[in-house]
Amino acid sequence: MAANMKVIGLTGGIGSGKTAVSDYLAEKGYILIDADEVAREIVAPGSEGLAELVAHFGSGILLEGGGLDRARLAEIAFATEGARAALNSIMHARIIRRMGELAAGHRDAGAKALFLAAPLLFEAGMAGMADEVWLVDADEGIRLERVKKRDNLSEAHIRSRMAAQMPSGEKRALADVVIDNSGGLGELYRKLDDILRERL
Ligand code: ATP
Repeated sequence: MAANMKVIGLTGGIGSGKTAVSDYLAEKGYILIDADEVAREIVAPGSEGLAELVAHFGSGILLEGGGLDRARLAEIAFATEGARAALNSIMHARIIRRMGELAAGHRDAGAKALFLAAPLLFEAGMAGMADEVWLVDADEGIRLERVKKRDNLSEAHIRSRMAAQMPSGEKRALADVVIDNSGGLGELYRKLDDILRERL
């Protein structure tokens, strides 16, 4: 990436507040590329990504209309370690390539800063695309309560999703900036304003 555009990876575990941070940044006019959105785009009906998934997992992962049956794919992929690794190897390289293309477009258009928002930035090997990484984090109990309230999921279900991610202590050691979101939203926004002023 050209030196004149700063690329910031934005990540955090389940319920940490990535969406709250992304929304705030977008509201302030910052450019964001969302890995979840890119992940949906690369397996849209008719895409090469979807064809590759079908070649590997079979047409049972398709809905009647030809779109991807995400629930079915998740069921298959979480059943065995091998299936999960296969899914990741099909998806991650494509996500990274597409994010790279989108980032290059913004750089060519003269953008000075760009955020790559990715829940699995570290796990999926995307951190290398960023000049620096900002981690959103909050105490585990708080994250759990927030997700419980938001998604109406059981504690056991949320804990199993947390366990599938890199522990927050490890992420903190890898991040350049840690944004603690254990307090209220007003506090989060004030912290963000300070960090933006310091780093951009
Ligand atoms: P996920 O990875 O699970 O999608 P996320 O990191 O995007 O989560 P958010 O969706 O931003 O997290 O936050 C989780 C929930 O907590 C949301 O319902 C959000 O509105 C709420 N929330 C986020 N930050 C705060 C805060 N500082 N105070 C109160 N509620 C918050």
